[in-house]
Amino acid sequence: MAACIFCKIVKGDIPSFKLFESDKVLAFLDIQPLSKGHALVIPKHHGAKLVDIPDDSLTELLPVVKKLAVASGAENYNVLQNNGRLAHQEVDHVHFHMIPKPNETEGLGIGWPAT
Ligand code: IMP
Repeated sequence: MAACIFCKIVKGDIPSFKLFESDKVLAFLDIQPLSKGHALVIPKHHGAKLVDIPDDSLTELLPVVKKLAVASGAENYNVLQNNGRLAHQEVDHVHFHMIPKPNETEGLGIGWPAT
């Protein structure tokens, strides 16, 4: 979709710090991270909400979220996926947030890239 920021990232028209890429999935660092290592995992196929994404793309997303959670080294993390304005969705291209919650005493051993 021409006007979609995340489609532009998929095409390489907007730069991103890529963490993982396959035929159907792209993961990159959030530009306004809530914590060090805050990552976004998206289907390359454009769809605004979860229900818009074909199952074969959806099934590839969660393993990547898991891979990034492991690679972050964080014992604590949030995985979020917002749908619609009332649910705080700002970018209308499906994305999973993987947000490490660093423990002040252990720090974060971010092990990017996760490929
Ligand atoms: P949402 O509120 O779940 O839609 O989250 C959208 C996320 O996309 C926010 O955390 C933004 O910081 C992030 N974001 C917006 N534009 C860019 C970008 O160009 N690169 C990386 N992350 C972005």
